[in-house]
Amino acid sequence: MRAVDIIIKKKNGASLTKEEIHYIINGYVNGNIPDYQISALLMAICFNRLDSEERYYLTKEMLESGEQIDLSKVNGLCVDKHSTGGVGDKTTLVIAPILAACGLKLAKMSGRGLGHTGGTLDKLESIPGLTVDISSDDFFKQVNEIGLAVIGQTANITPADKKLYSLRDVTGTVDSVGLISGSIMSKKLASGASTILLDVKVGDGAFMKNIAEAKELANAMVDIGKKFNRSCIAMLTDMDQPLGEAVGNSLEVIEAIETLKGNGPTDFKKLCYEISSELLVSSQMFKCKDEAKKAIDDVISSGKALNKLKEMIIYQGGNPDVINDYSLFKTANNIVEVKSIKTGYIEKIKTENCGIAAMLLGAGRQTKEDIIDSSVGIKFIKKIGDFVNKDDIIAYVHTNGKNTESSIELIQNSYIITDKKVERKNIVLDIIRG
Ligand code: URA
Repeated sequence: MRAVDIIIKKKNGASLTKEEIHYIINGYVNGNIPDYQISALLMAICFNRLDSEERYYLTKEMLESGEQIDLSKVNGLCVDKHSTGGVGDKTTLVIAPILAACGLKLAKMSGRGLGHTGGTLDKLESIPGLTVDISSDDFFKQVNEIGLAVIGQTANITPADKKLYSLRDVTGTVDSVGLISGSIMSKKLASGASTILLDVKVGDGAFMKNIAEAKELANAMVDIGKKFNRSCIAMLTDMDQPLGEAVGNSLEVIEAIETLKGNGPTDFKKLCYEISSELLVSSQMFKCKDEAKKAIDDVISSGKALNKLKEMIIYQGGNPDVINDYSLFKTANNIVEVKSIKTGYIEKIKTENCGIAAMLLGAGRQTKEDIIDSSVGIKFIKKIGDFVNKDDIIAYVHTNGKNTESSIELIQNSYIITDKKVERKNIVLDIIRG
């Protein structure tokens, strides 16, 4: 077999065989096929796509390129949840404690933020003392004893994806349904959970900018899950405005704690209830989502869910007093008002730009090496459908002085304001069950 023949075959639009996909992935991981040939193949895949069989074999090869987590060491049902990435997405910090308080287990390996999107690990690390670097043994012990752990990757999971993703990032070949679905699903399958919920973000702040593209990705991932006999649910959710109010690490953790106290912003709270109840029903803990939502109300009003977060913070070395004393988080030196530049109804919020505005303040990374300032960020107090007068406050910037003016200008210009009344958006747009 020769890599060049496989590249030409894909360039001409034909489907690759299981053996050809094995040859490519294996050869790339072992260093026998160079970056320039894989780059050419990736571009051919972007133009000519992968069919369902090819997606399956690509996922299988990437999955088998590294270690897989054996969750049989966890007693009880273990579920997983993955977001395709957005702005203000602190959902894991709320659903993990809710599910654990309801009797499910969540053993989650999360990622860091890059560019305009945030990452759960960075958010968690804004809690003083908390570590996400935990040994496999401690990880399993924690999940068995308290029902939840959110940590960085411990094992050498999907090295093929790591190598391919870095190459895709610099060759303009990220946005292919076949490549994204294989990349995400290989990692999720390697993490071992029996039920996986995929939160596929749709809109300006997401990878998938419209519902048709998001549905295609969701269907492809659910199809891969089925082929591996895993229960997979894809929830298409709105990312045409920041999720909740807070964007930025400490601010998002505080918003998650408030949500566990029953006070979260409406859109964020609804998404947490939808994801949690879907997982509770699909794991057969409850007959229907309404029953599951009542149980969620109970674990929130009784404080049980908040207590699960507290236990997780303690197990991972953090200071649990942050739950009742937000001054223990690092706070920004200044809070600056951001005022509307027009009068009318908020029609759109350019969400990717909002994520970039937070990154400019220091809340995110432009490159993997950048150091995050956990104290800075933005609170978006006006959302789509709200009416504002010129000079009304639409947001607050929490800043230590880095790029404050450019961030404020970016936020102001992200708000698209119209004279006509605008409907508020649903947070859940569709659900595809495997
Ligand atoms: N997230 C991933 O893990 N992989 C992709 O290809 C895109 C988003």
